[in-house]
Amino acid sequence: MVVGQKSCDVLIAGGGPAGLAAAIALRQRGADVLVADALRPPIDKPCGEGLMPDSRRELARLGVELDERHGARFSGIRFSDGHAQVTAQFPRGVGLGVRRPLLHQLLLERAAELGVHMAWNAPVVMREKNTAQVGGEPLNFRWLVGADGHASRVRSWAGLDAADLRSKRFGFRAHFRVAPWSEYVEIHWGERGQVYVTPVGPQEVCVAAMSRHPEVRLEQVIESIPFLRSKLAGARLSSPERGALTLMRSLQRVTRDNVALIGDASGSADAITGEGLAMGFRQALLLAESLAAGGLELYEARHTGILALPQQMAAVMLLLDRYAWLRKRALPVLAARPELFRAMLAVHVGEASLPKFLLRHGLEFGTLLALPQFA
Ligand SMILES: Cc1cc2nc3c(=O)[nH]c(=O)nc-3n(C[C@H](O)[C@H](O)[C@H](O)COP(=O)(O)OP(=O)(O)OC[C@H]3O[C@@H](n4cnc5c(N)ncnc54)[C@H](O)[C@@H]3O)c2cc1C
Repeated sequence: MVVGQKSCDVLIAGGGPAGLAAAIALRQRGADVLVADALRPPIDKPCGEGLMPDSRRELARLGVELDERHGARFSGIRFSDGHAQVTAQFPRGVGLGVRRPLLHQLLLERAAELGVHMAWNAPVVMREKNTAQVGGEPLNFRWLVGADGHASRVRSWAGLDAADLRSKRFGFRAHFRVAPWSEYVEIHWGERGQVYVTPVGPQEVCVAAMSRHPEVRLEQVIESIPFLRSKLAGARLSSPERGALTLMRSLQRVTRDNVALIGDASGSADAITGEGLAMGFRQALLLAESLAAGGLELYEARHTGILALPQQMAAVMLLLDRYAWLRKRALPVLAARPELFRAMLAVHVGEASLPKFLLRHGLEFGTLLALPQFA
């Protein structure tokens, strides 16, 4: 697409969920914004496609209201490892499984409604501090937002690559034509990895698998979990398997001069948290607030706070993934005391505080883990 303009106030490199959310939030505050993406919409991407209740609330602040016409609701989370199972409902609201191209389309429509300029099939190549090539044409900007994903080139160009990488796993995703059998997002552990199943329609589920081993494929992980093997037996694939990396990474800085990073480009928690999209939406709103206040200082100062909780929760879930012996104790403990799991979920979706949870339940949980009946 021809960009058709020579300058803008804010150039956003990357029109995925974080880039479009940033465009919407900035435009809501009156900024002149251009979003450019190397791909054409609607853009698909391997994702578990679960929007947690908190994620839906952030989207609503961006003017994107989703309901069951757009996907399938889920009322909580279920953990299962074939021996023990524990379930909890969200303390407030419900989640929604939404196919990624549809979410992209809805964000794009909202951006268009607000008057965001968009260029698709238009890779951004950095040139100088205030100039880029967008789809091969020069464009001047005042602020640059790198929303170009995990492997962000804007990040490298701005010298913001310094990071702490705490986990790297391989994610795979496919869709199956089958009626969702559960009102929960189900997280299953098997010998070859971890699978989570999100209802995304009356006759469709999204199945995402995570593994530390690049050679493992979705089918093998499903095969290693008898419950899923039987649920998905004979179900037709409605999308091909696609893979992506999922990282837990924090950057030392997310801004420099007139450049800010957002979404996966600015750090991430492991996909298992289901919080990747919500973090991007929160960052978008914060970025707009910061620029409206005249600069990127506020964004730099508060960005870490957005990543902190999902990363802490990811660390716990990655421990359960890495150490089967711990999982084999923790799941029966939680199954025996489901109120602990409910309290953990409340923390996860931002409805309760982690320090309070640890003060109230930390010792009890630790003691239960040590009891011989859970060994
Ligand atoms: C297997 C898996 C399951 C997940 N499940 C969930 C889930 O259930 N719930 C949840 O909330 N999150 C989930 N996530 C995380 C979520 O998908 C990401 O956090 C989210 O996609 C990040 O959005 P983004 O816009 O930052 O990056 P991306 O979606 O990667 O978008 C980046 C965009 O930048 C464009 N781009 C790159 N370079 C350039 C360039 N030079 N010029 C122009 N454009 C460029 C790309 O084409 C792309 O469109 C999951 C992730 C994985 C891998």
